[in-house]
Amino acid sequence: MSQLAAGIRVCVKCPLHKSRTHAVPGEGPIPADIFILGEAPGGKEDRLGRPFVGPSGMILVRLLETAGLSREDVYITSCVKCRPPNNRTPHTNELDTCQAAWLNEQIDLVDPKIIVLLGKVAMRQLLKDERSLRQIHGEVIQRDSRRYLLTYHPAVAFRVPETRESMEEDMARLKLLLAGSPHR
Ligand code: URA
Repeated sequence: MSQLAAGIRVCVKCPLHKSRTHAVPGEGPIPADIFILGEAPGGKEDRLGRPFVGPSGMILVRLLETAGLSREDVYITSCVKCRPPNNRTPHTNELDTCQAAWLNEQIDLVDPKIIVLLGKVAMRQLLKDERSLRQIHGEVIQRDSRRYLLTYHPAVAFRVPETRESMEEDMARLKLLLAGSPHR
């Protein structure tokens, strides 16, 4: 993984590298039971080169705590590793390039029991599922040899405070799923 992270830091495979300060490979234990996938680094992540260290990260950490988990227990990264200009949504070519170059291999190395998809960009990218998260958050989807739990992106909790409760329920689900999984 450290080789992969070194490659991500100097990656120039898509246009997002032009506006980044630091690429944000991801962090956490390897292997890990839980792989958390966001959308793209924001401003603070870009400055520090670490995932989910800004306002969304604070919400994510509190949500993990409600499920009895800490940040150090999980592997955290995003679909693209470089901040899009003005925090715009990553374009399809950027998402596809980053997934093929880095994300698929990260998932294989971490070999998680559950991948938590935060928000619709991650859900659409990994599962090609166009449904609304309002209908399907909390669902667990088995695809190929992986299990995915769908929930909102923590940034939504700022705009729509009611989603916070739903996210807490989804995280409680995560704990139950792990308890029911075979040990490594
Ligand atoms: N949002 C994301 O999706 N990823 C980060 O690293 C930070 C905010």
